[in-house]
Amino acid sequence: MADVYACVVHAAGDLRIEERDAVAPGAGQVAVRIAYGGICGSDLHYYREGGVGDFRIRQPLVLGHEVVGRISHGTDGLAEGTPVGIHPATPCGSCAECLRDRRNICAYSNYLGSAARDPHIQGGFVQELIIPADQVRVLPAGLELRTAVLAEPLSVAIHAVRQAGVGAVDGKRVLVTGAGPIGLLAVAALRQAGAAEVVVSDLHETPLKLATQVGATHTVRVGDAEWPDEIDVAIEASGTAGGLRTCLERVRRGGTVVQVGSLPGGDTAFAGNVLMTRELTLTGAFRFDHEFDTAIEWLAGGLYVEPIVTHTFPLADAQTAFDLAGDRTSASKVLLDLSAVGHHP
Ligand SMILES: [Zn+2]
Ligand SMILES: [Zn+2]
Repeated sequence: MADVYACVVHAAGDLRIEERDAVAPGAGQVAVRIAYGGICGSDLHYYREGGVGDFRIRQPLVLGHEVVGRISHGTDGLAEGTPVGIHPATPCGSCAECLRDRRNICAYSNYLGSAARDPHIQGGFVQELIIPADQVRVLPAGLELRTAVLAEPLSVAIHAVRQAGVGAVDGKRVLVTGAGPIGLLAVAALRQAGAAEVVVSDLHETPLKLATQVGATHTVRVGDAEWPDEIDVAIEASGTAGGLRTCLERVRRGGTVVQVGSLPGGDTAFAGNVLMTRELTLTGAFRFDHEFDTAIEWLAGGLYVEPIVTHTFPLADAQTAFDLAGDRTSASKVLLDLSAVGHHP
């Protein structure tokens, strides 16, 4: 097999395109020729800071967990050329959480492109990815790879909505703090789940415009705020202490706050007495499991998320792509096109 190129972070600010030996899939595995990879906030943190949350890079790490492509070496039922999405998690299947069907919080899970474990699990920003066949999902006819690449972050958003509780958002007013890709996908997921109103707050005007396009009914620029009251559920997608504070203060008494944004590593101060006196429920949302299939279904059904993908760059321009993805005034979800290394003709 021909050699393939991968996007590898070595340390903060040190991103390289490196050649990797192509390997043949083993038993139970398939090879996928990766078409697109979405740059996630966590990839950006690895690139800029050498870590995300409490996970630090201790060896070179191929980034990427939002990837789609076509089968290049398949198995029965997965013919060469089949377009597929890739579920990035391999839970252990036997720990207490896995047995409780909460596989997304399995402590022994392997997650593509993550430094949560040592040795790290290498990621999907590689031209050919070897992956267990059961992590592959055949894409429905008519769902473009460029759209399907949003299935992974959309799954995170759907899981965050579900963490608010069964029926918690149906017909309700919901706040989303932070209009990055996860916040925007949460807006789309909330409307799909029946939320009557979605209020979105952010520091910048550009992401708030995108929020309106994907279904927000009310946007608030942080600082010059007139806030709607009686917010039933708040989803914290900014990954900042300020965003968490906003959620705790703006949600109604007895309301629910879901933390899905990755806060900075270490301790985060928060208004514990506000939580106590207003009898709020505060819950976390981490990755996802079955939501991946729901996400593919919703995308195939035409969930309107197109404006979220703002840019696409060839693999060779990964550094430019990463720098732009960090500029929230002009970019939202930035894709790498891994089908060729070089510049587009
Ligand atoms: Zn992601
Ligand atoms: Zn497990």
